[in-house]
Amino acid sequence: MTAVTDQPMTPAAIRSAELERQIAVDPGRFRVLTGDRPTGALHLGHYFGTLHNRVRLQDLGAEVFVLIADYQVLTDRDVAERLGAYVEGLLLDYLAIGVDPARTTVFNHSAVPALNQLLLPFLSLVSVAELGRNPTVKDEIAHSRQAAVSGLMYTYPVHQAADILFCKGNLVPVGQDQLPHLEVTRTVARRFNERYGPVFPEPDALLSAAPLLLGTDGTKMSKSRGNSVALGASEDETARLIKGATTDADRHITYEPATRPGVAGLVLLAALCLDRDPHTVAEEIGDGGAAALKRTVTDAVNAKMAPIRARRAEYAQDMGQVRDILRAGNERANAVAEATLTEVREAMGMFR
Ligand code: ATP
Ligand code: MG
Repeated sequence: MTAVTDQPMTPAAIRSAELERQIAVDPGRFRVLTGDRPTGALHLGHYFGTLHNRVRLQDLGAEVFVLIADYQVLTDRDVAERLGAYVEGLLLDYLAIGVDPARTTVFNHSAVPALNQLLLPFLSLVSVAELGRNPTVKDEIAHSRQAAVSGLMYTYPVHQAADILFCKGNLVPVGQDQLPHLEVTRTVARRFNERYGPVFPEPDALLSAAPLLLGTDGTKMSKSRGNSVALGASEDETARLIKGATTDADRHITYEPATRPGVAGLVLLAALCLDRDPHTVAEEIGDGGAAALKRTVTDAVNAKMAPIRARRAEYAQDMGQVRDILRAGNERANAVAEATLTEVREAMGMFR
C-alpha cells in the first residue's frame, strides 16, 4: 500500500500493510466479504476505496463475497426507492470493474433468510450504550432523511456483523467510515466465541491507499449526498461535475490535505487515476489554477474510466443474464448461511 494520502499511518493503515504482506504470501487463507447499499450509482470513492481491492483479491485467489445490502437502505430513509434499478446498476458496476461471477459470489441479503436470522443472537451480545456510541452511526444520523432515528439505524452495525460472519469472512476491504462498524463485528465474533465456543473468525479491515475520497463539495464522496462522480457517468457529465467542485482562492496548486481539502481531493483523484504521486501532479499544474486542475482531473478520470464504461454498456445489453448472476449468487449464499446458522444453533444448544 502506498501512502498517497500523506496522512500519518493510523493503526488501521499499519494493520492493512501487514495484511498485504500476508495476502502476498497466502491469498487462499482469506475469505473476503464487502458490499454496498443500493442507494445510488457506485462512484469513484467506491472504486479507489474498496472496489479495486475486491477485484485484486479475487484475482489473487481469495474467496470473495459481494453483498448488495438492500435491507440497510432503510437505515436512513423510510422507503427504499428505485431499489430494482439501483440493484441492477450495482451489478453492472461490479461486472464492469472485473468482478467475475464464476469466482465471486454476488448476493443481496434480503434473499438470504438464514443470514438475517443471525441478527437475533448477535443483538444479545452488544449493549444499547455501545450501539449509541458508534461514530459512523452518529454521522449517518446527521445526514439521515428521517425525522426520527429508527431502530434499524442503531442495529445496522450488528446487521453488518451478520453480513460478514455468515460466510466466516476474515477480511473486509472497506473505506475508513466502516472501521467503527468492523469493530462491532469483531466484538460480536469474540463474545459469541467466548460464550458458546469457537465458531467465528475476528475479521480485519483492509484499507486501500484512498480510504476516504472527498466529493465535489469537499466532504466524503457519498452516493446519497449528491457530491459524487459515478463510475457509469458520461464524459460530459464527469466534466460538469468536476467543474462544479469546491476549490479555494489560491491559484497556486499544492497537495495539502489538511489545509486545502477541496484542492487536495481533486489532486488526489487525478493522481489515483494516473497512478502518480499527488505532489508531482500538483507541481506540474503549479500556477495554472483551479481551471487547469479541473481539466487535468476530468481527463484523468475519463481516461481511467473509459474501458470500465465500455464494459458496463456491453453488459447492459443483456439484463436477463445480469439478473441470473444475482440469482446464482443468492443460491450459493443461502447454502453458506444455512450451514453457519446450523452451527450457531448447535453451539447455543437450541432444540431442533
Ligand atoms: P450512502 O451515502 O448511501 O451511504 P456511500 O457512498 O457511503 O453511500 P456505501 O454503500 O455506504 O456507500 O459504502 C460502500 C463501501 O464504499 C464501504 O466500504 C465504504 O467504506 C466505501 N466508501 C464509500 N464512500 C467512500 C469514499 N468516499 N471513499 C472511500 N471509500 C468509500
Ligand atoms: Mg455509506
